[in-house]
Amino acid sequence: MKTVLITGAAGFLGSHLCDRFLKEGLRVIGMDNLITGDLKNIEHLYNEQHFEFIHHDVSKFVHIPGELDYILHFASPASPIDYLKIPIQTLKVGSYGTHNLLGLAKSKNARILIASTSEVYGDPKVHPQVESYYGHVNPIGPRGVYDEAKRYMEAATMAYHTYHNVDTRIIRIFNTYGPRMRLNDGRVLPAFIGQALRGEDLTIFGDGSQTRSFCYVDDLIDGIYKLLHANTHDPVNVGNPSEITISQFAEEIIKLTGTNQKVIYKDLPQDDPMQRQPDITRAKELLGWSPKVDRAEGLRITYEYFKSLSAEELRKTEHNKFEGYIKK
Ligand code: UDP
Repeated sequence: MKTVLITGAAGFLGSHLCDRFLKEGLRVIGMDNLITGDLKNIEHLYNEQHFEFIHHDVSKFVHIPGELDYILHFASPASPIDYLKIPIQTLKVGSYGTHNLLGLAKSKNARILIASTSEVYGDPKVHPQVESYYGHVNPIGPRGVYDEAKRYMEAATMAYHTYHNVDTRIIRIFNTYGPRMRLNDGRVLPAFIGQALRGEDLTIFGDGSQTRSFCYVDDLIDGIYKLLHANTHDPVNVGNPSEITISQFAEEIIKLTGTNQKVIYKDLPQDDPMQRQPDITRAKELLGWSPKVDRAEGLRITYEYFKSLSAEELRKTEHNKFEGYIKK
């Protein structure tokens, strides 16, 4: 039986990865410091014989007894609101955390896949974003702590591959959504659905002409699984190329939820990328992967999940305090 260490296991993507790798018959060790993760996301796994959870911050030395076949490094705050609240932890998990896990991979002779991001392209000047594009990132802006940590993460990973021959994989993840996203993490989908469920107006930042391309979580997890088993060390974009403006997206959420609320406009945060769409040619060619779940279906499933949350959960609108935090 193979063993995989998944960092960020109690988070949105980490918890779905735990489910998938247990289903594939692996022994899963989940690790999380629970700063942004939530044990609720993995409590259905507590009785699984082959699942183990370790409460630990990967920015500190990581020790795992016994053999390890794979490491998936998914620990990180992942929402612009979180970067504001915990910028130093965001930097540390991408840098020290990655360094510790690369060292662990080297000592265990384990394959390591690290979660990079479309944010390495910053506010892109090349569209759609292809892996060969170096990006357009403001290192000292509010997103810099995340973007630069992730860029460092890629550099460190490639260096461990080149100089220590560690078996590495780099995935660049584009906007992903689905059940277990935090309702109050400030990102656009939970923000809009939360607002609709609470009977509040939907807040569009800027004029709503900025674009994103949303990938349903099951598709992303499948891309991660395929990349782990493919033979490439270069970064691979994984996301859904179906691009939409934030205004159109608000309309879709209004239709989905049947809310009578209107759209209101707020200032566009600093360095908010104006357009984003993955070029997935490489993923198609190397992994034979492309997304299967269209937005209508993915949004329906996600809405059902948010509706099932308790009223107490729904009242949490912590992110509102930080609204406009990075205004120009
Ligand atoms: N956004 C918005 N209203 C909200 C939250 C976000 O209009 O209540 C916008 C945000 O300015 C950005 C887009 O939606 O242009 C996606 O933001 P998100 O934080 O989800 O992710 P990003 O892709 O920017 O990291």
